[in-house]
Amino acid sequence: MKKILIANRGEIAVRIIRACKLLNIWSVAVYSTADATAMHVAMADDAVCIGGPNPEDSYLNQQSIIAAAQITHADAIHPGYGFLSENADFAKLCEEQGIKFIGPSSKVISIMGEKSAARKTMIKAGVPVIPGSKSDFTTFAAAQEAAEQIGYPVMLKASSGGGGKGMRVIESDEDFQNQFDLAQAESKNDFGDDHMYLEKYLPHPRHIEVQIAADQFGNAIAIGERDCSLQQRHQKVIEEAPASTLDEVTRQQMFDVSVKAAKDIHYEGLGTMEFLFDGPEKFYFMEMNTRVQVEHPVTELTTDVDLVDLQIKIAQGEPIPFAEISRHNFALECRINAKTAGKVTALHLPAGHGIRTDSALYQGYSVPPNYDSMIAKIISFGHDRESAIKQMAGALDETVIGGINTNLDFLTQVLQEPDYLINHTDIGWLDKLTQ
Ligand code: ADP
Repeated sequence: MKKILIANRGEIAVRIIRACKLLNIWSVAVYSTADATAMHVAMADDAVCIGGPNPEDSYLNQQSIIAAAQITHADAIHPGYGFLSENADFAKLCEEQGIKFIGPSSKVISIMGEKSAARKTMIKAGVPVIPGSKSDFTTFAAAQEAAEQIGYPVMLKASSGGGGKGMRVIESDEDFQNQFDLAQAESKNDFGDDHMYLEKYLPHPRHIEVQIAADQFGNAIAIGERDCSLQQRHQKVIEEAPASTLDEVTRQQMFDVSVKAAKDIHYEGLGTMEFLFDGPEKFYFMEMNTRVQVEHPVTELTTDVDLVDLQIKIAQGEPIPFAEISRHNFALECRINAKTAGKVTALHLPAGHGIRTDSALYQGYSVPPNYDSMIAKIISFGHDRESAIKQMAGALDETVIGGINTNLDFLTQVLQEPDYLINHTDIGWLDKLTQ
């Protein structure tokens, strides 16, 4: 590959451009009119404006992106995360146009993008899943029948849902009809699909996910796990690696089933198997993300694998260059979110030993209101969890982002919570703290 078009913006576009530079691959940025002054545009070797600020007109505009790849003679498209990264139609369009989509085949994306099809595939591959409905459904009668079979409380999910949206805990059959109608209407509106499915609701599990990589020669490997239990409304806020509550036996089981599943489905590229962990040897597949994750740096800092570099090499047809992973240190990531849009009047991002910052911010940059609120990721690492947390506390303290409101103070508070410090948390802990 000589040239890669990056169909994304913000920190992940910058991250991918950096990887391209190290590989001597030319990078092409695409941008909306709201992003003309964005960092990824300035950093890439080439840049093409693809439409207006509304994502539908630019970062989700498949035809514009393909046209940009064609006029710049890009060999491949890196979709980053979000936007078109898990859009099977877009991957197919790339395949048809002879442009390499950096990720698995459109067929695999389409199976994994539909929660109930993904479950069926995983059951076939021998991966434990949460007890749930046998298939998806569109009627309340079917939902009720499934819920009674599984037993309340249940989690009602939109089949095509994502990003923590379209999920509801149903405690009992009282008010279920109303909840079902609302959830289904939401799903139709947000994802254009009214198929729903149900699974047992687990009250206190941890979210643990396995990073995998698979190449075009049938090799697959697990590159460590991450604990992403600290969530607000099902969206990740702080992520850690390794998962320190996980015992070695269960960790190995998770790795083994993840690798086996990747091989079974002829997976290619980076992928993440997400599990709910409910105690030793009790873990259940939730979903597979078929792209690079926001939280990939915590794995990079605890394994020495450059995941984006590996992802590009796999797409180029190279085999995975290692058979074993050395794991060391402890890393944690805080997602810095903007609570308001506007001009960044002052900026100091943390640095120093044990700190990495991934961001596309600069002083004078205006954060547009049109996109995801995450503006930076601060990642800290140390010999153990305690030292990584200490590094992070110092890093948050020295960070200055003037002119806009952020969640920096909130993150600082979370890091001081006694339960967080001793790791007595689960996926519901942060929501309870902020209730
Ligand atoms: P999305 O695709 O929207 O990210 P997921 O299926 O990955 O949705 O679930 C997101 C989060 O919701 C999980 O990390 C977990 O916190 C919670 N969750 C999902 N399924 C269950 C369940 N059966 N019981 C309890 N919590 C769940």
